[in-house]
Amino acid sequence: MNTQNLTWAQRDSAVNWHPFTPIKTAGEAVAILRGEGAYLYDENGKRYIDAISSWWVNLHGHAHPYIAEQVYEQLRTLEHVIFAGFTHPSAVALSEALLAVLPENQEKVFYSDNGSTAVEVALKMALQYAYNRGEKKTKILAFRQGYHGDTFGAMAVSGRSGWTEPFAELLFDVIHIDLPTAENLPEIQAFVDQHADEVACFVYEPLVLGAGGMLMYEASQLDTLMRYCRSRHILLVQDEIFVGFGRTGRMFAADHLTEKPDIMCLSKGLTGGTMPLGVTTCTGAVHQAFSTDNVYGTLFHGHSFTANPLACRAALASMDLLKSAETQAAIARICKQHEAFRARIATHATIHAVRQQGTILAMNIGDNGKDAYFRNQCKPVFEALLQKGVLLRPLGNVLYLVPPYCISDEDLQYVYDSIIEVLS
Ligand SMILES: *Cc1c(COP(=O)(O)O)cnc(C)c1O
Repeated sequence: MNTQNLTWAQRDSAVNWHPFTPIKTAGEAVAILRGEGAYLYDENGKRYIDAISSWWVNLHGHAHPYIAEQVYEQLRTLEHVIFAGFTHPSAVALSEALLAVLPENQEKVFYSDNGSTAVEVALKMALQYAYNRGEKKTKILAFRQGYHGDTFGAMAVSGRSGWTEPFAELLFDVIHIDLPTAENLPEIQAFVDQHADEVACFVYEPLVLGAGGMLMYEASQLDTLMRYCRSRHILLVQDEIFVGFGRTGRMFAADHLTEKPDIMCLSKGLTGGTMPLGVTTCTGAVHQAFSTDNVYGTLFHGHSFTANPLACRAALASMDLLKSAETQAAIARICKQHEAFRARIATHATIHAVRQQGTILAMNIGDNGKDAYFRNQCKPVFEALLQKGVLLRPLGNVLYLVPPYCISDEDLQYVYDSIIEVLS
């Protein structure tokens, strides 16, 4: 192919297949050549405010010099090493740093390389925990509108929708429940009760169901559900892949809860959005069930790039930045600004169901009916905002902000004003 005189976007169209993108109507992708702080720059030099943290991964801004420096040093020291029978300082230091801030019952860290794999590991841990103890528990409890990733196991424990329809018959048996409210909790418990003896674990996104439409629910209801599951010996698998690392206003969603999970999944913001890395942590009791004389009791799972040193080093650097007073103040500032904007749009004619959990702000635009996601009601909104230099990528009819913590007050105001302008 003669690529002379073609743009990056044109060359891309010829060779790349993009995620979650209907091919026929997609058009050209926007080619980003450079990022700095909350900004992305395309091949024409146009600047965009990345108000969704590039699919919820970025915490401290693009091309952060401190993370870059740390990764470069790691790259010149040790780029990768097998993690079975071997280890390296960045993995050790990162596990120590994570366990210091996770709920205190978390004791061991298992590495993989993205969010879906972190969930796969968690599911295998929970199912084999039962197997190793000689219990027959093969069912999994999950929220009807949950999302846990795109690999088969993660897809199986997610909600059923158009995304999973082509594979419906191949997805394993999951007991789906609704989000808990004060009214339906007794009903949910009675329903779960009928299956409880066969259920290995309850997999859930705490406080915010991300890809399911930024649905939010109360910490107190989740605590009740967690307590109930614990009483029925159902392991608790808390998927903080999206909400972890400050998104909810606190370090983890766990910091809003009194109950503690048995297993936790982390990814996305883990490396500050720099590199793919997944983490599954567990309690000492879960880990202990795999300490057996029977070789089949081993967790036979591992990825080539398990605990990649570059990714671990990026995560360590991101943790340094996240714990700084400056970032903590920025998170508090974003929460406050969101609150003020919520008040401003409370009575807006076309914005409904405005909701917030910390730095995550979401609202519904247009109607909520069947297949709302696939009707693309927000496509004109997405395009108009892009024109104005604001990157917001609605989920169906749900428009939401998940800004990187480095975003300035002025830029956040510009994003709010642009939303109002585009919707009027
Ligand atoms: C994004 C996401 C995943 C999947 O992570 P990937 O890295 O995209 O595979 C799992 N769970 C939740 C809650 C997520 O938001």
